[in-house]
Amino acid sequence: MPFFDADALKAWFVREKRALPWRENPSPYAVWVSEIMLQQTQASVVIPYFRRWMEKFPSIEAVANAPLEALLKSWEGLGYYSRVRYLHEAAKSLLKDYGGELPSEPEKLATIKGIGPYTQGAILSFAFHKKAAAVDGNVLRVMARYFSIEEEISSVKKKIQELTEQILPREEPWVVMEGIIELGAQVCRKTPLCGECPLNKNCLAHLHRKSHLIPLKKKRERTTLLQRAVAIVIYEKKLLIGRVKGKKVMADLYEFPYVEISAQKHALTQIKKMIRNKLKVSSNFSSSLGPVDHTFTRYHATLFPSIWRAEESVEVADYEWKTKEEIASLPFSSGHRQILQSLTDAHFTH
Ligand code: SF4
Repeated sequence: MPFFDADALKAWFVREKRALPWRENPSPYAVWVSEIMLQQTQASVVIPYFRRWMEKFPSIEAVANAPLEALLKSWEGLGYYSRVRYLHEAAKSLLKDYGGELPSEPEKLATIKGIGPYTQGAILSFAFHKKAAAVDGNVLRVMARYFSIEEEISSVKKKIQELTEQILPREEPWVVMEGIIELGAQVCRKTPLCGECPLNKNCLAHLHRKSHLIPLKKKRERTTLLQRAVAIVIYEKKLLIGRVKGKKVMADLYEFPYVEISAQKHALTQIKKMIRNKLKVSSNFSSSLGPVDHTFTRYHATLFPSIWRAEESVEVADYEWKTKEEIASLPFSSGHRQILQSLTDAHFTH
């Protein structure tokens, strides 16, 4: 077995670990929720969401019995909303099949919606105290550097998973597992702080002065730029909003009607056409609002909102008329929420 200085890491972790709310009572449910929230999101952002979520939905049963809309509302702003939908589906099946508890057998955990190998390892390790590897981006980075693995990192995930399983000690393996993750988050970061690292005596990348070169990564997927003209259609105190359908990134969230455009100069003509031909609402242009930038998954959208006054509140297929107050309790996409928040009473009066 390759040498790994687990004792030095353990001592460092016990001394330096951050006080995070999901570490206070790492029940299987708390570990599960926190790990799902922490995917793609920094711990400092997750903390208030996690606290609110655990207060509102203290058990798997509470999640299973909650309407999806209430769960999405609590998630609003965290992004990657498919995570909530999976959490909801998984909670329902856990209630049905396991009495509302997470099973401690890896093969059973693996069948639960949204629980991938990392989350599975985290639940087994942190909550059930099993000898299980939980390999996230932090672990990949630390292990690739410690063992000087000079291959493209996504091609060696399996190798690192196996290596991690091997180096975990028999005693308190969960402490070492969480220690590696914490080391990656605090010390062995993108720019490593090797001088402060408890593993620097034996870390191969550090000894060979290669830590800044590892891990090797593929070029990043490009961000797609989008431009959208957004219609704020107002009738008296109500706004026209629709719920996003299908499997789109924003599915189940509410948004204002919008249309993709190729350049800002087309915003008004395109959205006017959309209101007339698709929504079939008779309306008059009132004013334009400033552009709003919105980034989600690998997209960066610039929204060009304009206000339109409807002549009547006709029924529009797939859309609803709601007051600003009613919208406040609905899950709303964050770029469109910025627009909503910029509306003042003056925008509702002629
Ligand atoms: S010595 Fe440097 S490169 Fe090696 S694990 Fe520590 S921080 Fe990372």
